[in-house]
Amino acid sequence: MSAADIRDISDRLKVLKDALVESYPSKVIENFNLGSRTTYRVGGNAAVTFVYGNCEELDAVSKILDECEVPIFVLGAGSNVLISDKGFAGLCLIADEKFKRVNTQDVDTSHPLVKASGSVMLPSLARKLAALGISGFQWAVGIPGTVGGSIKTNAGGHGSQTVNTLVEVEIFDLGSGLVKTVMTGDLDLRYRFSNLANNQVVLSATHKLEIGDSKELKWEIDEIVKWRRENQPGGQNAGSVFVNPADRSAGQIIDELGLKSYRMGTAEVSSKHGNFIQADKNGKASDVYSLINYLIETVKDKTGYELKPELKLIGFD
Ligand SMILES: Cc1cc2nc3c(=O)[nH]c(=O)nc-3n(C[C@H](O)[C@H](O)[C@H](O)COP(=O)(O)OP(=O)(O)OC[C@H]3O[C@@H](n4cnc5c(N)ncnc54)[C@H](O)[C@@H]3O)c2cc1C
Repeated sequence: MSAADIRDISDRLKVLKDALVESYPSKVIENFNLGSRTTYRVGGNAAVTFVYGNCEELDAVSKILDECEVPIFVLGAGSNVLISDKGFAGLCLIADEKFKRVNTQDVDTSHPLVKASGSVMLPSLARKLAALGISGFQWAVGIPGTVGGSIKTNAGGHGSQTVNTLVEVEIFDLGSGLVKTVMTGDLDLRYRFSNLANNQVVLSATHKLEIGDSKELKWEIDEIVKWRRENQPGGQNAGSVFVNPADRSAGQIIDELGLKSYRMGTAEVSSKHGNFIQADKNGKASDVYSLINYLIETVKDKTGYELKPELKLIGFD
């Protein structure tokens, strides 16, 4: 039977898993609980997970996918996703520790270049750069995602966003099996949007930053962290659920409708921030999903605004 004839997804996943196990037995996990790797900490398993450590391994994945097409999901820190309770019937890619490098170049010039691997966490990068006296990345200290995730979503806050300083991104394109350098202008980065495809893995991102005073940068970072603690809830959430409409904040609209603390099963609109949904410990993704839909419908009904989710919904029909 040729691979093209394998129509059923579960058959294709089995062929994919067997091929990966044959080459990289220690890097394949079957039925890995993806939900527990997200900040919502709810949701089910990924059918097949591959932990990649270099481009050679991604190339092998790309060749197997050529033969056996399945949906792909690249997981970062899981801080902008909701995984359905039934999980993800596809291949999940997770980077190993090798994708946590940071290189600084031209630090003696006024615009140092910083190249960070896809799995570097934004808060630790922001702190590291501030300590080195490199300015322009402080805004990212309160965003609990990775560099890879920040490219996909053009993450931003506190008056800045990824696109402002990004120079180029190195990606592995699973479609062609090639490493590509993509310039910022070609990523179509807009408010919480990029044109990065699901089969493009961010290997690294290079930002052009500025020289600053490390003491002042540290102060700014502390202020941002303080603001976050005062204004945003902790616990099981994925930050803002909805993108803000052009002229209003989504949280404010939800707040004005008296929907803060509104509960559906194991999910609740945060009492602190109308655009955050909190999941209970051992909660259900289906409750978060129902609450998202309830908020969309109620807001549309009562105000006319059409809220659109900012977070990525994985494994929902
Ligand atoms: C408390 C809290 C506060 C937040 N505040 C903000 C905020 O102020 N501003 C903001 O923009 N966001 C905020 N977020 C959302 C989130 O942290 C960002 O969107 C972040 O950039 C997501 O990164 P991640 O690594 O967690 O991505 P994930 O959630 O793992 O994935 C998100 C998307 O990025 C893709 N992706 C992840 N890594 C890669 C990679 N290496 N290559 C290709 N694609 C990849 C995934 O496939 C997915 O489509 C907040 C979240 C929380 C929990």
